[in-house]
Amino acid sequence: MQLVFFGAPGAGKGTIAKKLFEKYKIPQISTGDLFRANIKNETELGKKVKSILDNGQLVPDEVTIAMVNDRIKDDDCKNGYILDGFPRTIVQAEAFEKTNPIDAAVYFDITDDEVKGRLGGRRVCSGCGAIYHIKNNPPKQDGICDKCGKELLIRPDDAVEAIEKRLVVYHEQTEPLIGFYKNINKMITIDASLAPEKVVEQIEKQIKL
Ligand code: AMP
Repeated sequence: MQLVFFGAPGAGKGTIAKKLFEKYKIPQISTGDLFRANIKNETELGKKVKSILDNGQLVPDEVTIAMVNDRIKDDDCKNGYILDGFPRTIVQAEAFEKTNPIDAAVYFDITDDEVKGRLGGRRVCSGCGAIYHIKNNPPKQDGICDKCGKELLIRPDDAVEAIEKRLVVYHEQTEPLIGFYKNINKMITIDASLAPEKVVEQIEKQIKL
C-alpha cells in the first residue's frame, strides 16, 4: 500500500503515520524528518537546506524528489509506505505519479486557526522524535519525553512568524494537490480536527490497510 498524507503543517500527518506504523507496520517516510536528520548530521544536503527549513520555505523540487526516490529503494519499503509531507507541489506529485503511482492520497482537512494553536504548542523529542502538545497531549514530566527521557524541543519552524509563512506556502503550493488527486480519483478526505483515534478510524473506513 502506497499512501500520500498531505494537508497543512500541524494537521497531524506525522502523528497518524506513526500510529499506522505501530498498527500495520507500514513505514512512514517524512521528508521533513529526513531533512532534519541531514541538518543534525551536518551532511552536504543538510547544509544546503537548513536556512530553507528555518524560514518555512520549500526545498527545491528536484532535491526533494531525488531524496524520496532514494529512500523508497530501502528494503522496508518493499510492501509499501506512507509519504508524510511529500509531495508538496504539483511538480513533485506529477513526477512521483509517473514513476511510482500511489494507491491513495489522504487529505488532512483542517482550518488555519486550528493549525496555529497546534503548532504553537507542539514539542518534539530531541531523542526519538515523539510528538507532544503542551495542552492536548502533554508529557508526564514537563519538557521530558515519556518514551526515551530526552529533552523536548520547539522546532525552529514552529515559531509564530515561520508558522504564518508555512501556511502561505501551503495554500499557494500544496493545496492545489487537492485538484490533482481528485482528477485522478485517488483522493480521500478526513476531518483532521478530530482526536487521533478518530482520524485513524476515518482512514481505516476508507482504505483497506
Ligand atoms: P514538515 O516536517 O513536513 O513540516 O517539513 C518541514 C520542512 O521541510 C518544510 O517546511 C520544508 O522546508 C521541508 N520539506 C518537507 N517536505 C518537503 C517537500 N515535499 N518539498 C519541499 N520541502 C519540504
